[in-house]
Amino acid sequence: MTDSLEKEKLFDEKGLRLDGRRVDELRPLKLEIGTLSRADGSAYIEHGRNKILAAVYGPRELHPRHRAIADRALLRVTYRMGTFSVGERKRPAPSRREHEISMVIRQALEPMLFLEMYPRAAIDVFIQVVEADGGSRCASTTVASIALANAGIPMRSIVTGVAVGKADGQLVVDLSDLEDKIGDADVPVAMAYGRNEYTLLQMDGKLSKEELAKALEMVEGAIETIYEKQQQVLREGFIQIREEISESEEPSSDEGDVPDTEIDETDMESADGD
Ligand code: ADP
Repeated sequence: MTDSLEKEKLFDEKGLRLDGRRVDELRPLKLEIGTLSRADGSAYIEHGRNKILAAVYGPRELHPRHRAIADRALLRVTYRMGTFSVGERKRPAPSRREHEISMVIRQALEPMLFLEMYPRAAIDVFIQVVEADGGSRCASTTVASIALANAGIPMRSIVTGVAVGKADGQLVVDLSDLEDKIGDADVPVAMAYGRNEYTLLQMDGKLSKEELAKALEMVEGAIETIYEKQQQVLREGFIQIREEISESEEPSSDEGDVPDTEIDETDMESADGD
């Protein structure tokens, strides 16, 4: 932290954050599933200027075999930042930070997966940060969770990540890169929202007990918004698959073979009218 950074203000004269957000406002969010064709499941997120891809392979045979677990699958998560993903070139070798973030994302996802359904198998999640903008471990958790769902891995709940913290003495949701770097505290959170269970809670900086409680209250609205977007993108994915399946099916002359999903009320009305 340099002196010039320390003096920088994080709120404008109207009380808004430097990117124009209110204290509890999320950065723009875009989610996509099925981005990669080779992976068993994949997803892409743009959260603020974070741009992150997640690819899931598995359940598949585990190599090396001696790492196999007799009664469940081994979940492996690899988080990597591209050398070009930050202002100054990042060294290509995996850093301690990347190892730590891979571990915390795995721990955030693991409790929601039914790993016991796949003894001795591996489920691999590769997360590639193309551009980083603060809160990348949270955005990575969000995108990895829907990539796992896209791979058809059974789960108790989707996991949703976002950071909360303190900047210029005020609690703020979804810290930007600058707020993360020169703010007073950064608290990455991941939750299985529908189950009201936290699966990731870290803290960098200082918050009082009361501030932490208030921060966790504030973050729930943001988690709910992201969770709904995750659900929406997965739902749209299923609708698309259903449409592709029904398009690829031969039209049948035998009414008994028509799948229920193809019958809607408008079809019934036009059939009645004919
Ligand atoms: P998170 O991305 O989860 O907030 P950190 O708090 O460790 O994780 O990092 C905050 C931000 O700092 C990152 O999102 C990224 O924009 C930036 N950053 C991380 N590592 C580097 C690096 N090696 N060089 C430049 N910037 C970095």
